[in-house]
Amino acid sequence: MPILFPWGLGVEAYASLGRDVDPPRPACPRCGDPTQRWSGYARHVRDDRDHLIWVARVRCTGCGVTQALLPSFVLPRRWDAVANLGKAVGLAAEGMGHRPIAALLLRPETTVRDWLRRLRSTVVTVTTALLARAVALGWSGFELPTAPLPRLCVAVGALAGRWPGDRSADPWGIAVLVTGGGLLATNTGAPLEPASRSGAMTGPSTEEASDDP
Ligand SMILES: [Zn+2]
Repeated sequence: MPILFPWGLGVEAYASLGRDVDPPRPACPRCGDPTQRWSGYARHVRDDRDHLIWVARVRCTGCGVTQALLPSFVLPRRWDAVANLGKAVGLAAEGMGHRPIAALLLRPETTVRDWLRRLRSTVVTVTTALLARAVALGWSGFELPTAPLPRLCVAVGALAGRWPGDRSADPWGIAVLVTGGGLLATNTGAPLEPASRSGAMTGPSTEEASDDP
């Protein structure tokens, strides 16, 4: 899985940096040794329009494994920025169906239907993780909706309200960080698709984007 890092300044600001993006260099998630910059790749991401962004890679100086460093507005292997998913979830939580949501957000019906379908299988796990972190940060709310999607939305808001610092102020970006990008993954920590797709640069004509496994 790629490594997510906090980015709260929006897609536009990130995209404008081009290859000059300088994300933190984390220790290797596999062996703990230091990592060094290791090129990167271009990738599309869409908020209200399509952007081409540079995703930096690091390589472990010990075991040699390479990892992509994704800003927190990116959902691994998805073209849409997480803010779009968040808007869709908010509307679905109010009872709106996937067709009117798709029309409102100008996204394909199949995309929105797929988001909501995948989320149905992860929502309990994801919400539990977000609430646990919010509680660890001192959140003490106790009146939660019982319906899964409204509950998730409250959890996202609760966590964002307690999140330290301001670099990742986007609530759904924080949810991406805390879940390791696994909001839509049926198995947290596992790639959504086979790694063989990585390396292909996807464009606006395709639905999803490739990220390093
Ligand atoms: Zn390593």
